[in-house]
Amino acid sequence: MAASSDNGDQVHPFEEARPGQVPMRQLGLRIEGTPLAAVLAEFEKELAAAGIVKVRPRFYLSTEWGVPFETVAVAIPFYLARVDLAELHAERAGMVEGESAQEILRYLRHEMGHVVNYAYELYDREDWVESFGAMSQPYIEEYRPEPWSPRFVRHLPGWYAQKHPDEDWAETFAVWMTPGLDWRAEYQAWPLALAKLELCDRIMAEVAGLDPEVTDDELDEDIGEIEYSIEDFYRTSLPAPPELPPGLDGALRAIFAEPVRDGEPAAESRPAAAVIAARARALSRSVFTWTGHFPEHTHALLRHIADRATSLGLVCPAGDETRALLELAVFVASLAMTHVHRGNYAP
Ligand SMILES: [Zn+2]
Repeated sequence: MAASSDNGDQVHPFEEARPGQVPMRQLGLRIEGTPLAAVLAEFEKELAAAGIVKVRPRFYLSTEWGVPFETVAVAIPFYLARVDLAELHAERAGMVEGESAQEILRYLRHEMGHVVNYAYELYDREDWVESFGAMSQPYIEEYRPEPWSPRFVRHLPGWYAQKHPDEDWAETFAVWMTPGLDWRAEYQAWPLALAKLELCDRIMAEVAGLDPEVTDDELDEDIGEIEYSIEDFYRTSLPAPPELPPGLDGALRAIFAEPVRDGEPAAESRPAAAVIAARARALSRSVFTWTGHFPEHTHALLRHIADRATSLGLVCPAGDETRALLELAVFVASLAMTHVHRGNYAP
């Protein structure tokens, strides 16, 4: 799926591979026979070790991670079933949710929190509502987290527990069931988060031996039934990029270098756009992890910054890349935090 345009020496750092046009159900994607199957087998062992033997989750491929409400079915993003699709997702969305087996296990522990919540209808318990809040609270996609809030555990990137009571529980549960993690020591200095973990520990001791109330495993948006193509999926599912701040050029000139200085060409150098593009995926992920700013937004911002750098002819001298990337990271993180606080990059 190579890009077909004839670029010559021009840099097209964000060139995208052409995504599939066929209905997704025709792609033949399945868990069996892929590395995902081995990760799920590993997860089953973790469940047994955590004493969770009565609830039997069903795993399937869909468009994103999730558990349909009032089921025990765990949806896994389709792109984790094929390396080329994961690469495509990184290009389009800025971040793959499950870069490694270890990271997929983190997502599985989180989703299992939802499964246990629905299976035992924990959200109806008074102690659950008192600690996590009511399930009826609105589910806000563009939540605005408060980094380092001591009221919440930290597990998935983006301070995800702060999104909704159901996510708060799922994150708490995931921390609780992480093998080898001494969560009491880890959260000693965060008594409110620790209290949620202690409650989770008590609830799990209480229900783990019981048959679940809910065992429905009906699949929602199973990959084998999706009529739209991957291209349709990305066209319709990614949020519109936020309005970009004015006056970026001055900042970019401070971070990168002009190709000619005092009439002398810069020493050996790479186009700034190529340096940005090479780290766009890692940057989008780190910014999301520590600020909660969505990776697809950072990715769009970096794409714009790379385009501006090309228009300005900016370069990055060899030997100066680490400094330039550090500055770029802090610069982008500052924009991201402004967005998290105000809902926009510009005040
Ligand atoms: Zn969740």
